Amino acid sequence: MSDTLSTPQLSPMAQSYKGAQPHHVVIVGGGFGGLYTAKSLKGKNVQVTLIDKRNFHLFQPLLYQVATGGLSAGDISSPLRAVLREQQNVQVLMGEVIGLDPDSQHIELKDGETIAYDSLIVATGVKHHYFGKEHWADIAPGIKTVEDALEMRRRIFLAFEAAEKEADPQRRKALQTFVVVGGGPTGVELAGALAELAHGTLKHDFRNIDTAQTQILLLEGMDRVLPPYPPELSVEARKSLEALGVTVRTSTLVTNIDGDVITLKCGDQQEQILAGTVLWAAGMQASPLGKVVAEKTGAELDRAGRVMVESDLSVPGYPNFYVLGDLAHYAHQGDRPLPGTAAVAMQQGEYLGKVIRKRLADQAVVPFQYKDYGSMAVIGRNAAVANLGLAKISGFPAWFIWVFVHIYYLIEFDNKLLVMTQWAWNYFTRKRGVRLITGDDDLPFETEPPESEAQDGPTANQPEKQQTVAKI
Ligand SMILES: Cc1cc2nc3c(=O)[nH]c(=O)nc-3n(C[C@H](O)[C@H](O)[C@H](O)COP(=O)(O)OP(=O)(O)OC[C@H]3O[C@@H](n4cnc5c(N)ncnc54)[C@H](O)[C@@H]3O)c2cc1C
Repeated sequence: MSDTLSTPQLSPMAQSYKGAQPHHVVIVGGGFGGLYTAKSLKGKNVQVTLIDKRNFHLFQPLLYQVATGGLSAGDISSPLRAVLREQQNVQVLMGEVIGLDPDSQHIELKDGETIAYDSLIVATGVKHHYFGKEHWADIAPGIKTVEDALEMRRRIFLAFEAAEKEADPQRRKALQTFVVVGGGPTGVELAGALAELAHGTLKHDFRNIDTAQTQILLLEGMDRVLPPYPPELSVEARKSLEALGVTVRTSTLVTNIDGDVITLKCGDQQEQILAGTVLWAAGMQASPLGKVVAEKTGAELDRAGRVMVESDLSVPGYPNFYVLGDLAHYAHQGDRPLPGTAAVAMQQGEYLGKVIRKRLADQAVVPFQYKDYGSMAVIGRNAAVANLGLAKISGFPAWFIWVFVHIYYLIEFDNKLLVMTQWAWNYFTRKRGVRLITGDDDLPFETEPPESEAQDGPTANQPEKQQTVAKI
């Protein structure tokens, strides 16, 4: 790969820059990639329009804290307008982009409006993937948006409330069983936080149930948790999870979810367990705009629907059209595509700001090069793992670094202060104060016995059901 990329032959960007109007950069998506691109164009002679279907930037790495009552949604969200308030060359628009035409250089919003661009940047990220079992989404919610986190919170706390009222021991046990599907960083963080909640925070709050008896089962299809991490950190993570009371099952796949009956497959063995709450942390696929990009430009998509981009993040054949962050498949560094992380998206955003500036000045650009400063996953209070290249850290030191890195990258100063205060409070009191159940109070499925069962008392099919329930 050559070190520099030539400026497009026709240099339309440089031409538009020399015209009367400033070059118009349209950024779709105000996540890490889009926001950092907009910020890196601060003070430059370009007009930027940043469009997001939400009016806020969301710090997704802390969503699991919202789901488990540790933080409020507002603590990890920053209004995009406020973040970019000082940046006079940026206009923020709220709207969902549903179409684009790279030939006439327009994008189309859901409300029918079209917006012309000179350079287009698409950073709309990813959404959950249920591997062809999309109907599981209702039973096993994932965690990607504020709504997802609030729905998880609702189900988690509702399950404890329902268990407190439940007289039947078997159904009470099911209500106090939580299954987290997927042992990557999100699944590990969720399972650890759930264990702390059930075995610590809630211990003295109920009268009929012992929350310490809550079972938290973390399922991973591969042979270890945190598969992208070095094996020794996977071992440490597993130990920390087990110390918190999480049952970790590796090489285990979920093959069916039917109400509260979860079917698992481990090697040739099939088994069923009863669980009142199933949380999904197993897979992601590209947001729908990826498909639109492919249809309009002929760009290739990978299996997850991510757009295969050039080494300057442009879409092949369209030098003024870029895709970055989770939606991009970047295969120009190392033997594997870059991971979908906030760090990659932020660095790509900063890089793209430079690319646009250089192209407008008719200068050559170098390919994007990701600087990997390491990755971290938190398991609970005082427990985390950090892969910092040569240094592999676990336990309290890793947790300490994790806390400060996450606070540092929260976008607004107000958020940093709030989260720091909350964390200090939670740390010393072990409290999780944001345990609100909002929305409706229905459980995801019926826990009442079917009518025949209710009439017959302890029924004929109950023992059968018990037989299928594996011990966990
Ligand atoms: C639970 C969770 C935990 C994570 N933890 C970590 C972590 O610890 N460390 C780490 O590095 N990474 C972590 N990540 C990954 C990280 O959050 C992503 O890699 C990062 O957010 C990707 O940035 P992005 O800009 O590509 O997309 P996003 O940040 O997802 O932003 C996409 C934006 O596009 C908007 N959008 C989508 N479609 C449209 C449309 N059609 N029109 C207009 N706007 C649209 C969305 O509203 C959103 O604001 C985590 C992710 C999750 C879900």
